Amino acid sequence: MSEFEGLVAVVTGGASGIGLATARLLAARGAVAVAFDVDTGVGPPLHGVRCDVTDDASVRAAVDAVVERFGRLDVLVNNAGIGAQGDVAANGDDEWRRVLDVNVLGIARVSRAALPHLRRSPAAAIVNTGSIAAWAGLPRRAVYSASKGAVHALTLAMAADHVREGIRVNAVAPGTADTPWVGRLLDAAPDPAAERAALEARQPHGRLVTADEVAGAVAYLAGPLSGSTTGTVLAVDGGMHGLRLRPA
Ligand code: NAD
Repeated sequence: MSEFEGLVAVVTGGASGIGLATARLLAARGAVAVAFDVDTGVGPPLHGVRCDVTDDASVRAAVDAVVERFGRLDVLVNNAGIGAQGDVAANGDDEWRRVLDVNVLGIARVSRAALPHLRRSPAAAIVNTGSIAAWAGLPRRAVYSASKGAVHALTLAMAADHVREGIRVNAVAPGTADTPWVGRLLDAAPDPAAERAALEARQPHGRLVTADEVAGAVAYLAGPLSGSTTGTVLAVDGGMHGLRLRPA
């Protein structure tokens, strides 16, 4: 498959986990794939550009660098995200701002810088990374869930604003995915192996989602075969949302 041949794709948070798998898949399907991340440790065929999505100057410089070097920008995957634990009272204003700044305002900043270039593309698409947390009522994830609910709503608003410009905007909502992020959470548990087994058992399909499975959904929503799809949030969660299950 080479449906992204000749196109330039930017993936924020592209140096790890879901973002890295996505950048690799888009590159394998022909794109020039650029990982925007605070961590620039990506190897060929990916291109790494240092970008902190909480810093508007950093975002503008990174987008400018891509357009200067590759001449265009066609696909934007707004994937950079961070988490926080606890109920609504557990985190102070600073922690709320820190998470919303990356997960929500980060999308606004990168999209704002990218839109003038996307408007010139005949194949423009934005895919945002939402989460099952926006839908499922996960315990002890108040800030994070609020941020991802905002991502889903923002996806629809952006889709409405840009549909007539030929820019499609969709989101993926992964369930618990086997990425370095989740690995770090498991490693912090007293018995990581038992914690992993318990986590897997809580998934409807009995295992964690893989980063490659999320990447496949992102590539579909970013590519020409979803040319009539905009304003959707695609669950990649082993059935948790579709089956209306709720994790304990
Ligand atoms: P990860 O921690 O493996 O990767 C996230 C990447 O984002 C890292 O490379 C990190 O350096 C980068 N990043 C963080 N802050 C940044 C900033 N300010 N600017 C630029 N880059 C920044 O995480 P992951 O599990 O691959 O998660 C990726 C996305 O998927 C996130 O939006 C997350 O909320 C979402 N998600 C993950 C899961 C899961 O279970 N792993 C489930 C649902 C949604």
